[in-house]
Amino acid sequence: MEQSKTLVGVIGHPIKHSYSPFMHNNAFRMAGLNYVYLPFDIFSSNLEDAMKGMVALGIKGFNVTLPFKEKVIDYLNVFSEEAAVIGAVNTIVNEDGELKGFNTDVNGIYAILEPYKEKIENRTVSVIGAGGGARSVIFTLIRNFKPRKINIINRTKEKAESLDEYFAAKMLYDEIEAFELVPPDIVELLNTSALIVNATSIGMPPDEDDSPTTIADSFHKDQLVFDLIYNPLKTNFLKLAESQGAIALNGLKMFVRQGAKSFELWTGEQMPEEEIYKLLLEELQK
Ligand code: NAP
Repeated sequence: MEQSKTLVGVIGHPIKHSYSPFMHNNAFRMAGLNYVYLPFDIFSSNLEDAMKGMVALGIKGFNVTLPFKEKVIDYLNVFSEEAAVIGAVNTIVNEDGELKGFNTDVNGIYAILEPYKEKIENRTVSVIGAGGGARSVIFTLIRNFKPRKINIINRTKEKAESLDEYFAAKMLYDEIEAFELVPPDIVELLNTSALIVNATSIGMPPDEDDSPTTIADSFHKDQLVFDLIYNPLKTNFLKLAESQGAIALNGLKMFVRQGAKSFELWTGEQMPEEEIYKLLLEELQK
């Protein structure tokens, strides 16, 4: 008789775009672990029941993806320091019915930006977006990279303004300014930033033809441009930045690093990160 598998998974809506099941199930196979990772498409109105179900069924843990990274906090018992400050959780561990929230996106963001630390410190940076991903980017920038100023640019300006107040209170960082995402009006802001981060879903299917800016003057050769999106590997945003000579970084390394940290939290083992990165790259290039 086959020994029963330990169940982990991801909750979100929609969920079919996620490569997390592919990544984790391959990693479990490579590491010889008897785990299985399943996607769960959950409607917002069912989130509370889903969390109770996770405890009742003894599921070892979940990843949490959009749009629940902030909402899920109401149902957790304990948080890591990062998750508590950021106010967004992407990994849950079920320890005998006690649900613990972690944010491993910060590990992924740090892995991407760390080689460029000197280019970011004491410079102006721009973050496009004000959701869970943007919160993790802003936290990591303030904690690890000490920029002089952070512009937060978002479609809904009030959300960007609320993050300005949030990080002033939580991290005593008051060099944040909020702007509305109106592409012709933000060219100068982007052009004068040492680092630009796209933390919106603009550029991801079904909006893969869109970009937060289509104006080439937004970019120049001495910039770093980071798009959290990993599918497609090169968004129109990154293509335009690269055409202007900027260093263009996609979200794949972040995706693998955050996944590796979640894997470690659930299993206590290391994910074979390099092999998984190569496997995902191959899959996404198909
Ligand atoms: P989220 O919390 O739902 O936030 C989405 C953000 O995108 C908001 O700022 C929203 O603006 C903006 N947005 C969405 N559609 C838009 C549109 N058509 N026009 C203008 N703005 C739009 O999502 P999230 O969790 O932060 O994720 C954001 C992106 O990061 C996604 O593409 C996600 O796949 C990616 N991500 C990647 C990784 C990785 O490991 N590589 C990890 C986390 C996230 P409003 O506030 O105005 O709604």
